[in-house]
Amino acid sequence: MDQYAVPVVWSAETREHDPRHEIWVGVATEGTEVAARVDTILAALRDQGHRVVEAETHGDDVLAAVHDPEMLEFLQGAADRWRVGPYADLVGQERVVPYLFPTPAMTGGLPARPAVSVHADAGRFVYDTMTLVGPGTWGAARAAVDCALTAVDLVDRGEPLAYALCRPPGHHATRAGLGGSCYLNNAAVAAQALRDAGRGRVAVIDVDAHQGNGTAAIFYDRADVLYGSVHVDPAAGWFPHVVGHAEETGRGAGEGATRNLPLPEGTTDERWLEGVQDLAEWAASAGCDALVVSLGVDAALDDPESPLLVSEEGYGRAGALVGATNLPAVVVQEGGYHLPTLGGLVAAYVGGHASGTPLRAAR
Ligand SMILES: [Zn+2]
Repeated sequence: MDQYAVPVVWSAETREHDPRHEIWVGVATEGTEVAARVDTILAALRDQGHRVVEAETHGDDVLAAVHDPEMLEFLQGAADRWRVGPYADLVGQERVVPYLFPTPAMTGGLPARPAVSVHADAGRFVYDTMTLVGPGTWGAARAAVDCALTAVDLVDRGEPLAYALCRPPGHHATRAGLGGSCYLNNAAVAAQALRDAGRGRVAVIDVDAHQGNGTAAIFYDRADVLYGSVHVDPAAGWFPHVVGHAEETGRGAGEGATRNLPLPEGTTDERWLEGVQDLAEWAASAGCDALVVSLGVDAALDDPESPLLVSEEGYGRAGALVGATNLPAVVVQEGGYHLPTLGGLVAAYVGGHASGTPLRAAR
């Protein structure tokens, strides 16, 4: 191959998270965010001639800057609390799943305390019933953060582009909340690490089919990290349902530093690519000196989790559009669940980004 061989950072420990099932609209459905995703993506990128790199262990400093310490403590200990609880006899399954949510609707202004039982306490941090915590979840999520941080190190040392095979994904994880199959926000950690390494302004470009409400919320008040997303319209009934609308543009110092480009169900390549190009040009013209790409490939036409209809070629062209910014970039894996096409979609994006040719002249 005559193109740049992109470093692909991965960790075997990311396979250890097994969601087993999700509780979706009251029924247990098969989890789609499975460990086999790691192997199929890795194989496809290897086949394309990219360089596989093992993630290095990093300290918790950046993670603690992005996430609430109580949430981190909960996630790290939840599976053990469940294991020593009565749950084996009570329900016969070992995944932590919230049973109530102590929102203001429940507490009604009373001075609430954290619940003692882990099944009642989980709703303090887990905001949906699809994001179960199992024995390997913390280790895998923490290893995914190491993948993102190792990719940042590589870019910091001069690589123009590095890909982090993060699993579980992260862009739905807020500062103090986990949901949407996400536990720790790998993209937010990468953006913060780039800032800490001296980049003046960083943009997160999120091409996952769903708006990354976690990343959006973490940086909503900040001017130094832009967040732009192209995604299926939450107002059409899609996750994250309550946020991700076009009028959300940032707040305070962050006013204008958030962009949401919602698309209708059934959107195909051309319109989706216009959104991607719009975000890439926005990041470049806003004076950003580094990018984080939240690479979800669940906008693809075969993917079971979204109604967008982007082709593999479309993902390749999206990569080229973002690559045309010529900004150093850390690409972080987010969603993408159709195992037969998953590896090809990721490889198409990464190859396109490495080749970096514009769809049309920059405005
Ligand atoms: Zn998604």
